[in-house]
Amino acid sequence: MQLRIPGPTPCPPQALEAMGRQMINHRGEEFGKILNSVTGKLKQAFQTKGDVFLLTGSGTGGLEAAIVNTLSPGDRVLSISNGYFGERFADIAESYGAEVTRLNFEWGKPVDLKAVEKALKADGNIKAVLATHNETSTGMTNDVKEISAIVKKSDKLLLVDAISSLGCINLPTDDWHCDIVVTASQKGWMVPPGLAMVSVSEKAWRAHAQAKMPRYYWDFTKAKDFLQKGQTPWTPAISVFFALDTTLDLMLSEGLNNVFARHTRVAQVARNGVKSLGFSLFPDEKYASNTVTAVNASDKVDVSKLVRILREEHEVVIAGGQQKLSGKIFRIGHLGLVYEKDIKAVLEALTKALPQAKKG
Ligand SMILES: *Cc1c(COP(=O)(O)O)cnc(C)c1O
Repeated sequence: MQLRIPGPTPCPPQALEAMGRQMINHRGEEFGKILNSVTGKLKQAFQTKGDVFLLTGSGTGGLEAAIVNTLSPGDRVLSISNGYFGERFADIAESYGAEVTRLNFEWGKPVDLKAVEKALKADGNIKAVLATHNETSTGMTNDVKEISAIVKKSDKLLLVDAISSLGCINLPTDDWHCDIVVTASQKGWMVPPGLAMVSVSEKAWRAHAQAKMPRYYWDFTKAKDFLQKGQTPWTPAISVFFALDTTLDLMLSEGLNNVFARHTRVAQVARNGVKSLGFSLFPDEKYASNTVTAVNASDKVDVSKLVRILREEHEVVIAGGQQKLSGKIFRIGHLGLVYEKDIKAVLEALTKALPQAKKG
């Protein structure tokens, strides 16, 4: 089976083998070594000298951790969103009592940087800005470097959902002044779901010291205190740690820049392929993501039929659209363990499946 959805992604044999290991004491020395090793390698992948924590949970848990650790109820927050996951980040902040100004752009359209600047000028009391690096729902990558340049002119906190981009698309956490960056194990990291990973800047720690939102499980102070002892506050997803220790070695020995370049090449194969089949991309091509390709389908194919035929007859699993894009687009995931040949196989299957899935 070719699993080509934007997470969970396929795992290499090393990771699967590591997952089969016997359990160990999560309060023992052996786990401490693995935790320190994984944390050190992750800091390289995040390109940060700040703190990185591994939190047992899915990516959404990491987003919640970013919010509750830096903000207080009533704090003003600017949400920059152009898709489903951007809206989720804003929803979480609102759930905990932040006063969220939603700067929403059309799904698939780029963030208007002038509008961000204007929104920050219009409300001097904004404390934090929420941004999505790679909007998985629309297959586009937002220009976090440019967004950060504006956010940092007015010295706000910048919290970034990089769940489906980190480790695949360049996001230098420190150079781009991102205060919290969130990712999750089942996306570009080639391991099963179970771990959210977050970086925390000095500025985020200063905000944390003042932040009054309720938190317990996600508390960064607890994570930091336990990490100093080579532990996590709560029982971690030990097997996912075993696996991640191996895939981070693969990524770092390939070299981060080579990993990014491979994603760029593979994405280009995906984009060229679907275009040569007569499709158009959902987002502006200039911003098309290197980890997921979103394709306009509505007038040509029945998406649920296409997804079913690909799975049942060609052993290829792709994704449909989410929420208001359901039935309108399909998405091909190409992150983590993916090479040109994998996407060529998907395109071949797509070519064969299309006649059966035509609307008509
Ligand atoms: C997958 C994803 C999420 C949600 O992550 P879960 O692990 O399912 O909680 C959030 N944001 C983006 C951009 C994602 O790709």
